[in-house]
Amino acid sequence: MEPASICRFLPPSQHSLRKLFRPNTTFLCKQAKLPASVLFRFASSTLGTLQFKALCECVHAARLLVATPFDASCTTNPQKKAPMSLQPLAKKTFGTIQEPARTIDVVHRTDVLVVGSGPGGLAAALAAARTGVQVTLVERFGCFGGNLTAVGVEGFAWYRHEQTVEADGIGREFEERAKAMGAAVPEVQSLSYEIDSEGFKLVADRLVEEAGIHAMLHRMFVSPIMEGDTIVGIVVESKAGREAILAQRVIDATGDADIAHRAGAPTFKTPLEHVQAASVMFHLAGVDKKAFLAGVRADPQTYKDWSTGEWEIETSGKEDAMFSPFLAKPFAQAIRDGVIPAHLNTIGGTWGAIHDTGELTYMNLVHLAGCDGTDPDSMTHHEIDGRRQAMLAIEALRRYTPGCSQVRLRNFAMTIGIRDTRKIDALYNMKEHDVREQARFDDTIGIYPEFIDGYGVLILPTTGRYMHIPYRSMLPKKVKNLLVAGRAIGGDRIAHAATRNMACCAVAGQGAGIAAALSVKAQVGLDEVNMSHIQKELAKQGVRYL
Ligand SMILES: Cc1cc2nc3c(=O)[nH]c(=O)nc-3n(C[C@H](O)[C@H](O)[C@H](O)COP(=O)(O)OP(=O)(O)OC[C@H]3O[C@@H](n4cnc5c(N)ncnc54)[C@H](O)[C@@H]3O)c2cc1C
Repeated sequence: MEPASICRFLPPSQHSLRKLFRPNTTFLCKQAKLPASVLFRFASSTLGTLQFKALCECVHAARLLVATPFDASCTTNPQKKAPMSLQPLAKKTFGTIQEPARTIDVVHRTDVLVVGSGPGGLAAALAAARTGVQVTLVERFGCFGGNLTAVGVEGFAWYRHEQTVEADGIGREFEERAKAMGAAVPEVQSLSYEIDSEGFKLVADRLVEEAGIHAMLHRMFVSPIMEGDTIVGIVVESKAGREAILAQRVIDATGDADIAHRAGAPTFKTPLEHVQAASVMFHLAGVDKKAFLAGVRADPQTYKDWSTGEWEIETSGKEDAMFSPFLAKPFAQAIRDGVIPAHLNTIGGTWGAIHDTGELTYMNLVHLAGCDGTDPDSMTHHEIDGRRQAMLAIEALRRYTPGCSQVRLRNFAMTIGIRDTRKIDALYNMKEHDVREQARFDDTIGIYPEFIDGYGVLILPTTGRYMHIPYRSMLPKKVKNLLVAGRAIGGDRIAHAATRNMACCAVAGQGAGIAAALSVKAQVGLDEVNMSHIQKELAKQGVRYL
């Protein structure tokens, strides 16, 4: 956005800001070829917090009226306390319309309906089906897998070391099945396997078919069907228009608690200035594997290197000297050489797997602060900006990374990767203390090792420490017959840094699926299912819960 446009949206009371963004500033900026983002960086360092907050709010408001949105990534660092609030203002609308009521077909009925097929939803659907009820799995995209397939997040269990204690169950089955189907390679920093994001689409298809799950892809949940405070089904939207699906129990595995939120269950979101960055993920081709690995060996990076000055990571100390497939130096050099603009010092991160075919996959290098994963305008902006940043990252790799001189983009992920949106206010919200101090619960539905990754904390489960996941963290308040599995379960920020991980989502999902199925079988409410029956079925399905 040009400074003059910013000026248009500043209220007269903001004298000093109006002065800063007056039209001839635009002229000066153009002469000096300064992008607006640099101006914002200048503004954030020279203005007081209140003034800068006012500026951000004006720009957020303006964003809704002009085409070019505000690049929040140049002013906030996801790992640091930001100086101002980036809470978006209420959306500017052009009035309202009355949507006419309509009659829609009920196209399907089921016992347990799972919406969203990421590690949480896929595990929930499989577990419920294996417990012996009819299960339907609804997904907005054309493949199952959630972030694993749609976003290309391939590091399913990169935390695993010799002493790590895990739940096993369906999460481990994902890995084993991927290995058996040629869709996994040894992961570089751990005793786990990197799951191929394309190959896992086939793995998930087979698992769903074998379990007899009714698959409904290409359908987006749009609203719950309620009888009072009880959910009895959902409305989906697709190329076929609107359709209704009825169910005895619903599991919300959308990652964003879409169903819980729209059904009226209380949810909460991390304030935008503290929200975990979103990422545009990509895979590369044309890498000289031998030369690349020789470069990695010649200058091995560790988890301590994650603290670059721009990013600050708290470890427990034992992680600091351990190898990490981390890339930061090429981007720092690119900034020094003017290949990457200075404000994009957030480019950097990890690579996943290097294949014999010259593919370098799971490139987790672009970090987009301030992206609201429940706001399509924010996602539109960051998706496009993220692709731009990815191409700059690739150029830097080409110039400064051994083995990458011929590198080219193989593909972007199907969609921007969102880490952090709504969480339910559950019957029990997990706490930082629980994940740091090996919590134990009577209503445990599975264990998860002491692995915390997010909000500036990285702790790896290199000892045998682990926690219990309580069933109550999946039970939303105020809505009956609904469970929430996956990354939207109840918990505070640091608890979420553990529970958001895919293997943990699979643990929660499996517990949710079993509980929903048993609740149908016994015809009791989800909050009344006998815990010992759930735990007996967990054990039968190979899950460690104590
Ligand atoms: C860039 C990035 C890197 C990450 N790296 C790692 C990592 O290395 N290791 C790790 O363990 N975790 C990692 N994570 C976190 C992890 O991927 C997620 O927290 C995890 O996948 C969440 O699982 P889930 O099942 O809750 O949701 P998701 O995997 O997000 O799946 C949700 C599914 O629901 C579908 N859906 C959503 N809304 C609707 C709707 N309205 N109607 C129908 N379908 C809907 C989506 O299409 C999707 O398939 C990363 C996340 C990101 C974004």
